[in-house]
Parts: sequence; structure tokens; C-alpha cells
Amino acid sequence: MKKIMRAMIAMLVVLSIFSTSFIAFADGWDTDPVPLDVCSHTLKEKVVVKAGPGTDGKYYEYCTKCSYKSEEKVIPCIKGVALKKTVFTYDGKKKTPEVNVKDGSGKTISSKYYDVSYQNNSVVGKKTRALITFKGKYTGKYYRDFTIKLGNTTLKVDKTGVNAVQLSWKKVPGAKYYGIYELDSKSVYQRVASTSKLTYTVKNRKSGKRYDYLVRAYYINAAGKEVLSDFSGAGRAYGITLCKAPKATAKVSGKDVKLSWNSVQGAASYRVYRYDTKTGKYITLVNNYSGKSFVAKKQPKGTNYYLVRAYNSRGGGSPYNTKILAKAVVK
Ligand SMILES: [Zn+2]
Repeated sequence: MKKIMRAMIAMLVVLSIFSTSFIAFADGWDTDPVPLDVCSHTLKEKVVVKAGPGTDGKYYEYCTKCSYKSEEKVIPCIKGVALKKTVFTYDGKKKTPEVNVKDGSGKTISSKYYDVSYQNNSVVGKKTRALITFKGKYTGKYYRDFTIKLGNTTLKVDKTGVNAVQLSWKKVPGAKYYGIYELDSKSVYQRVASTSKLTYTVKNRKSGKRYDYLVRAYYINAAGKEVLSDFSGAGRAYGITLCKAPKATAKVSGKDVKLSWNSVQGAASYRVYRYDTKTGKYITLVNNYSGKSFVAKKQPKGTNYYLVRAYNSRGGGSPYNTKILAKAVVK
């Protein structure tokens, strides 16, 4: 009996294993429809309340293939709207600064959610602004101002005369004219002239003196008002007018000629010449000389002429002037 029982149990075990595996095999052939909770959602957003300046919005997500709908979620408000650049230099072209927009959570809002238009963005001296209009899940309008200014010029002193300083500068796009400013004794730049040209000679100045200049560009705005350029170091320059030539006198002593002259305002040094009447050339006898008298030794026989020129600290010498030659007859 025990043997039979054991054999039957063994058969049952084998049968149960076989049937289980058969059922498992049959599951693979199941053709039931896909249950709803296995939908691979195609989600879209539905805005309930648009987000605006300082106020959050709301939206939910829904599936286009099934009836799924999410809980309502927050659209963070529009918090910061700023132009990436607010100052431009006029060049006649339209300026279109980029906009940087942040939401209440500190994230950047994509530019697909707003349009930007510009007003007066290629002129100097007018209300120049960007208008940012939100769309999509955002609403609101912002104006942001920016500036288009005249550029700076570069000033230089071309040359100086005894009583004049000749200036020139670079053209500034958009400039109608230029104002020339001179530093006064109280260290304030005063406008001394205006011109639409790129050069100007300031006259009636003292000899051997330093003069500081500043040139600024002007533009006339729609209201008829002057709009000034900024200015930088490049718009400034200075010149030292040439010294008047000293009037020298000559005294002969044997073959030597002693020249004496008055001191001249602004003179840093003097140069003494003998003038060759045959060739018209000036022969330098002494250079970079700081005294006010000089003895020219062993001078040629006959009638000689001498000239003293005063040099300012910039190395500019007083003009050659045959009318003030000192005459000396050497025997
Ligand atoms: Zn779905």
C-alpha cells in the first residue's frame, strides 16, 4: 500500500508541475485589450489663469489619448524684465537690445512667450525704448528704456603758433556740429567756439602758454535741443603756444660776438644761429641753451647776422624772423 501511495503522490507532483507550466505558457497567448492605466500619455497643457507681473498663473496637463487630467500646477509669475544692454553709441543703425526675463522661481522665461518691439531705436536724443508684450501662458506689457548716445571724438593739436592753437578731431557719426572747450583759470572747460568742420584754430592766445582743449559732438534732437556727446580722455588735448622770438643785440669784442637777449615767457631753452645771407641758411651756434647771453667765438670777418629762437617745453621754437636779426661787424 505504501509503495502505491508513494507512486500516486509522485504522479500528482509531476502532473501539477506540467499543468502549471502549461497555464504559464497559455498566458503568453492572452489577447485581452490593453488596460487604460497603461496609456503612454500624450500630454498637453491647459492654462487656467495666465501668469502676469507679480501674479502666479495656473495650468493642468491632460492626455489627448485618454481621459487623464493632472492636478492644477503653478505658473510662476513674471518677476524681472531687463535689457541686456542699455547704452549704445550712435552709428545710424537700429539698436535691438536682447531681453532677459526671469520668473518668480528665478528661471529664465523663454523668448517664445513674448514679443519685443522697439521705438526710436536708431536716433540720438529721443525716447528710445523696448516694448515687451507677453503671450501664451503669460500676460503683461513692459517698457524698458535704453540710450543711444553720440560717440566720443579724438582730439589732437596739429600745431601751435605764437598766439594760436590749431586743433583737429575725428568725425563723430550723427554729430551736427562740434563744440570747442578751453580750460579756464578756474579749471573749468568753457565753450569758446562751435563748428561743423573737423578743424579749428583758436586765435588771440598768449605766447609760450599751455592751453587745454576738449571737443564734444552735438546733435539737435526733435525738440530743437542740443544733445551733447559724452567725452573721454581721447576728446582732450593740450598745446603750448610758441614763444615770441627774443630780440637779441650783438656786441663785438675782437673776433668774438657777444649776443644778449631778453627772457621770453614760456621759454624752456634758447637756440642761437648765425644767418648766412648768401645761402639763406641758419647755422646753429648753440642749442638747448638756458642762459640769456652767449659769446660766439672767432666769427667770420665782415658783417654777420644773428638770431635767437626761444623753445617752449614741448620743443616748439619761435618762428624764424629776419626782421629781428642782430647785426655785428667783425674786423
Ligand atoms: Zn493617456
